[in-house]
Amino acid sequence: MRVLSASQRSAAIHQFPSTNYDLIIIGGGITGAGIALDAATRGLKVALVEKNDFAYGTSSRSTKLIHGGLRYLKQLEFGLVKEVGSERAVVHRLAPHLVVPEKMLLPLYERRGFGSLLTSLGLKLYDWLAGVKPEDQRKMLTRSQTLAQEPLLKQDDVKGGAIYAEYRTDDARLTTEIVKTAARFGADIVNYCKVTGFQYADGRLTGLELHDEIGGTTTEIHGNAVVSAAGPWVDHLREMDQSKQGKYLHLTKGIHLVLPTGKLPVRQAIYFDVEDGRMIFAIPRGRITYVGTTDTNYSGDVDAVRATKVDAEYLVNAVNRTFPSANIGLSDIESSWAGLRPLIHEEGKSASELSRKDEIFQSHSGLISIAGGKLTGYRKMAERVVDLVIETHFKQREFRPCTTDRIALVTPGFDNYSLVEPYRRKVAAKLGGDLQTADYLVGNYGMQTDTIIDGVHAEEDDKLVRSEVRFAIEHEMAMKPVDFIVRRTGILYFYKHRISSILETVMSEFGRRFNWSREMLDVERNKVLEAARDVVNFV
Ligand code: FAD
Repeated sequence: MRVLSASQRSAAIHQFPSTNYDLIIIGGGITGAGIALDAATRGLKVALVEKNDFAYGTSSRSTKLIHGGLRYLKQLEFGLVKEVGSERAVVHRLAPHLVVPEKMLLPLYERRGFGSLLTSLGLKLYDWLAGVKPEDQRKMLTRSQTLAQEPLLKQDDVKGGAIYAEYRTDDARLTTEIVKTAARFGADIVNYCKVTGFQYADGRLTGLELHDEIGGTTTEIHGNAVVSAAGPWVDHLREMDQSKQGKYLHLTKGIHLVLPTGKLPVRQAIYFDVEDGRMIFAIPRGRITYVGTTDTNYSGDVDAVRATKVDAEYLVNAVNRTFPSANIGLSDIESSWAGLRPLIHEEGKSASELSRKDEIFQSHSGLISIAGGKLTGYRKMAERVVDLVIETHFKQREFRPCTTDRIALVTPGFDNYSLVEPYRRKVAAKLGGDLQTADYLVGNYGMQTDTIIDGVHAEEDDKLVRSEVRFAIEHEMAMKPVDFIVRRTGILYFYKHRISSILETVMSEFGRRFNWSREMLDVERNKVLEAARDVVNFV
């Protein structure tokens, strides 16, 4: 079985110029990953290049929900709600430890938001469009039931509430697992490999110039079809292709704040509206609760998106107005993240009003770009793009139909939620009853936890962390300590307190594996420390 390993990275880059690909994908976010998996499983010869780490862009900075997008009902986007709503159960089945059910509480207020009747009808429509199972369908609550469900809510003007079903995920891990599955099906996938130019023959795009951001060399790759799934960078690539005409991207920024559970001890996920009419999530996740998001126009550097003090204060105020006893301040924030929505500009519409639907652009040179959309809809977006690639480039060839709704991500066979809990207990028993570590490992890796535990060398210190780092390098192409701390594990966001105790262990495993000098170790260590500072430095 092909594994996405750092060991094969150089060899993969080396053979790029001499291979003729059917399809080359630019961008290793969830959109590019989904396309790579769909195309590889249909029988196309596929390559994917990512300029940074997998999920470095928006796909590690979302609200981390696999959701139908309740608020898109308000915008009358029934098609979008139906598609992403139905996809939730599919993605849950494909990665049951990583896409977990999360019941959402929607409080209703006297003087704002929708009335009980409209909410009840809206949620019924939401459940119907998404085909939600009867036992998971929405339940309306009285005022006292709502306050009993969540005593932290400001009591005054709550008039009732509703509970409805969504799913929670880890966006970066989901992306990584899709990338790994695509590699398993034969796609050649490389991170830290930037597209720096396009090559044409008779005006048609035939290849790409690449820069290996780790090796420092340049190379090229050739293929029949090129898809740009570069998220917020899509227009930059369209400019390189001299095809940015007509519709263009409108970037909006969304931030999230992470608070220790003790500071915001909500009992379950809550979706509440604030005075300006926007909706905000508060989502408990183990030892923390995170809140978000904002939605503001963005025109700064796409590679340096940060949560500002204004962004953070907006969310802090929203939390304090909804949960007054929490009384949080900026100094309570443990971590944060900020991401960009690559939306399609519509004249006269504000950030929040823009559609979340995906759009495909085709240039005269043949470059296909896809932008917009949701994490949740990645599989259907991929199916549409690969259909188009086949239609435009390979009409004469026979390919298998799309089967990604049946291809388990992570571990074949581990495709049922009922398998997760017994497996977690088995792992805890192996770890001498350590339920917390079992929770963390199985939540992140599913059944691959066996590989990590089996990879432990008894004589080492910090042996589990060492084995986890080796797994990230050899099975998930982690090339740098930040890849491990931010995207393979989510430690920067959800377990930031652990960084100081594991950092030297992580550094020593990377240093040994890649033979790093003391200077290189310092550079890479500083990147982790800088990331840890940035997430609480609101300027
Ligand atoms: P990206 O993840 O940004 O990937 C593009 C990739 O292309 C990047 O990794 C980048 O490095 C790479 N790239 C760019 N240029 C080059 C180049 N020259 N060469 C090689 N590679 C290149 N959706 C949901 O379903 N649920 C949610 O809860 C949710 N919440 C959200 C909250 C926020 C605040 C935001 C901003 C979005 C949210 N979304 C959510 C939407 C979802 O996150 C995005 O639709 C999705 O992640 C976009 O993925 P992508 O692969 O298209 O883009």
